[in-house]
Amino acid sequence: MALRDIVKDKDPILRKKCREVTDFGAKLSKLLDDMHETMIAADGVGLAGPQVGLLLRVAVVETDDGYFELVNPVRTAESGTQKGYEGCLSVPGRSECVIRPMNVTVRYLDRHGKQRTGEFSGLTARAMCHEMDHLDGILFYDKAVREDE
Ligand SMILES: [Zn+2]
Repeated sequence: MALRDIVKDKDPILRKKCREVTDFGAKLSKLLDDMHETMIAADGVGLAGPQVGLLLRVAVVETDDGYFELVNPVRTAESGTQKGYEGCLSVPGRSECVIRPMNVTVRYLDRHGKQRTGEFSGLTARAMCHEMDHLDGILFYDKAVREDE
């Protein structure tokens, strides 16, 4: 495994829409392993493809609920809302209040191309929504609200 450089805000790659993954070989496994290691080293709970300079629909999320690798993820259902502060490894030093669903259902592929569906809540749901936004070029502060809003 190897650490990858994390792309920082204002780099135009963070504003691009990612393409779907179609190759499920060793290269994808290595990418996911590297992303996991990079996320841990940076003390984050999630990291998405564009943040390591790749316009691919991949993300990793790790919380108390477990470690998840999302390939071509799609949010298929959501319920409730949560309002709270979040930050981003690509936007160091900034946190904003963002409203996210409390619960989400996500359909995705694993590193071998096998389809999976998961239901997530709380911080894990927040992190997954944040990472899936990255795949469409959306940053968390685009959705910032005032704390009393
Ligand atoms: Zn982020």
